[in-house]
Amino acid sequence: MEATMTRAPFPPPPATDQADAFIAALRALLGERGLTTDPQLMDTWLTDWRGRYTGRALALASPASTAEVAALVKLCAGHGVPIVPQGGNSGMAGGATPDASGQAILLSLRRMNAIRSLSAESGQAVCEAGVVLQTLHEAAEAAGLRFPLTLGGKGSATVGGLVSTNAGGTQVLRHGTMRAQVLGLEAVLASGEVLDLMTPLKKDNRGFDLKQLLIGSEGTLGIVTAATLRLLPAVSGRVTAWAGLGGIVEARDLLRRMEQAMGDALEGFEVVPAHCLESVLAHQPNARAPLTERHAWNALIECVSPSQDSAALQEAIETALGAAMDAGLVDDAVIAASEAQAEAFWQLRDGISAAERAIGPAMQHDISVPVERMPEFILAAVPAIETACPGTRAVAFGHLGDGNVHFHVLAPAGAVRGVWEEAEGKAVSARVHDLVTAWGGSISAEHGIGQMKVDELARLHDPVALAVMARVKQALDPANLLNPGKLLQASPPD
Ligand SMILES: Cc1cc2nc3c(=O)[nH]c(=O)nc-3n(C[C@H](O)[C@H](O)[C@H](O)COP(=O)(O)OP(=O)(O)OC[C@H]3O[C@@H](n4cnc5c(N)ncnc54)[C@H](O)[C@@H]3O)c2cc1C
Repeated sequence: MEATMTRAPFPPPPATDQADAFIAALRALLGERGLTTDPQLMDTWLTDWRGRYTGRALALASPASTAEVAALVKLCAGHGVPIVPQGGNSGMAGGATPDASGQAILLSLRRMNAIRSLSAESGQAVCEAGVVLQTLHEAAEAAGLRFPLTLGGKGSATVGGLVSTNAGGTQVLRHGTMRAQVLGLEAVLASGEVLDLMTPLKKDNRGFDLKQLLIGSEGTLGIVTAATLRLLPAVSGRVTAWAGLGGIVEARDLLRRMEQAMGDALEGFEVVPAHCLESVLAHQPNARAPLTERHAWNALIECVSPSQDSAALQEAIETALGAAMDAGLVDDAVIAASEAQAEAFWQLRDGISAAERAIGPAMQHDISVPVERMPEFILAAVPAIETACPGTRAVAFGHLGDGNVHFHVLAPAGAVRGVWEEAEGKAVSARVHDLVTAWGGSISAEHGIGQMKVDELARLHDPVALAVMARVKQALDPANLLNPGKLLQASPPD
């Protein structure tokens, strides 16, 4: 389903007596603030962030409490109405967009946005699902703490969405993905029961870790209503550097050196090829290249420390970069002279997707292979794709330190957006995914499967793993009412 740029809101699905009775019951449960069927009010939330998918919904429900979510799920189960959970709608795989049937309700968790508690003593925050990531950052900062996960969509992404997609971001290298931040979880199951696993226990061997089962399940196994999250002491020193390199192999070797030299202080290591940097410089009017010369690859390196001051940290990073230059790995490097300059470096990195989008249509792939093999993968995959798909340009950028890059294939010049993706882009993606699979990697490192990659997951994932996932889904949601058609195909393989 492709989005159209100037689209009138879909009309609501035809009303039937049954649907009317269901909506009336829902309204009685949630009140006027908690429910709308107004096409204009629902419209924004029915198209995904990238504008790829547009769906329809019976209603947009916005419960205010876990008890309301539980009652709503029971009501939906009684009427056989599917539920599509949604947080900030910043997901990249169409997971929070309903299908075109208009039979599902869109369940927004955004009203449940209380931070129930935040304690410097325990280093924990208890957040409802609708807390926006940036709000959590600000609340932690006010208490002299920080939440060690951040990403470009932080102004929209919610705790529930971050948990349900097992989001990553730019600090995974040091702190891990969302899985590592969740100490406790509360969720409403398809039965309407509330699974309360909120108490954070460092040691707990009472069988399956059910919270880990729910993390990354993209709303298909339960509705996340709250989470207990780990916080760390705020950093007192941060140093951000930009290095120019001759190749991606040098970037991997530099990463290894920086890991050894900086230890736990190394928090981010992102790679930016020359083409991506040039696209951003052309797209962002005030952006400036950090280095005077053009370099085939660039590395954005960030080190932080809760105890070391910036001067000591800067000295350590200068020494490490100097040694890397002497070893011929780095051609040139600069250390941000101020917070503003550090932010400007990050804006160059964060601006890549928007800049590439401005150039024309592209197929984006969020892939991972083992960190050690990533340079060889990029060196093999870029020419393989460009040769097989004449006129395209393949670029890889992002979280090298995690073995995860965004592998974008830009359409040939003159390709029409919305046409090329369907006509040729899908075949391009299949080639990329085949290559990733052959290299032992994952077709979704960060963004999840959503509706975008359901068929590709079914085609390429281990059949036994798929069958186990289908059995888990069957056990927890036998009527397939929680986010149907996402992550798993509607009819699981035999
Ligand atoms: C500019 C930008 C940069 C980004 N960078 C990164 C990045 O570096 N790393 C990364 O991992 N992601 C990144 N993302 C993607 C996105 O921010 C994450 O996937 C985020 O976790 C989605 O949160 P959300 O609240 O917007 O979820 P939504 O988009 O609303 O939903 C995402 C999925 O989670 C489900 N869901 C949402 N809330 C709940 C809930 N309470 N219970 C059950 N299921 C739920 C939805 O059904 C859907 O399947 C980026 C997005 C943007 C816009």
